[in-house]
Amino acid sequence: MKNGYRVIDAHAHIFTDRIAEKATNSISAFYDLPMEYHGKVSEMLENGAKAGVDGFLVCSPATTVSQVRSINAFLASVAAAYPMCTAFGTLHPSSETTEEDFEHLRKQKLCGVKLHPDFQKFAMDDPAVYPMYEMIQASGMPVLMHMGDSRSDLSHPLRLEVVLRQFPKLRVIAAHLGGWYRWKEAREILRADDRLRFDTSSSLAFLPPEEIRSMILQYGAENCFFGVDYPMWSYETELERFFALGLSDAENRGILAENLTQWLGITGAISDENKF
Ligand SMILES: [Zn+2]
Repeated sequence: MKNGYRVIDAHAHIFTDRIAEKATNSISAFYDLPMEYHGKVSEMLENGAKAGVDGFLVCSPATTVSQVRSINAFLASVAAAYPMCTAFGTLHPSSETTEEDFEHLRKQKLCGVKLHPDFQKFAMDDPAVYPMYEMIQASGMPVLMHMGDSRSDLSHPLRLEVVLRQFPKLRVIAAHLGGWYRWKEAREILRADDRLRFDTSSSLAFLPPEEIRSMILQYGAENCFFGVDYPMWSYETELERFFALGLSDAENRGILAENLTQWLGITGAISDENKF
């Protein structure tokens, strides 16, 4: 709890202890940004708890096809071991066994799918990826979609708009307030509805508080989730930045935890068995 609110990090990346340091360094190099932490589960739980974070939505996108199953097994083991963690699994659009991979993911009680077009090197709206969206849409599972990059347009908000039009029942959390370094475009293009939500991860440090606040209010505070993008940012600092937005009590309560748990509950992604 922080300032009397339950807090969930709706966007946390974790790695096995063996590769955490290496994986975190490569994300740091990819974005040319320093990382606060190292990507280990123990470190996330410890620092999160210290800052008042009660729950974590954990994920880890596979950058190669061969990693998909082992990453999903790891994510499932973390969700099983720690009741404060709920996990989204990974799929890779280049896999030739996406259906079996998805079957494997679902059997492990993972609650959604994290996709990262820039790391996984696919254009979000490439028709070659449609069968994968079709499969996820049919399952009702939500997708946590990485959004936006200043140097590539693979995850541009326009592409998400195309996907949402093609798949009218696909549930998506658009990360980084709809587009990291594409905030302006995201605001112009994306509108929350029953199946589209936004997370605040890796955004609060880049824009003035009044701009973040106005984006959140435009999307609808009830459609936004607080995310930190562990291991990128300090839990304490991100919470300070969040409270500096000066949102109302109800908006804080919703964004920090309730909007996410309610939405995942409605979508059936979490149940008593696998909730935070
Ligand atoms: Zn992410």
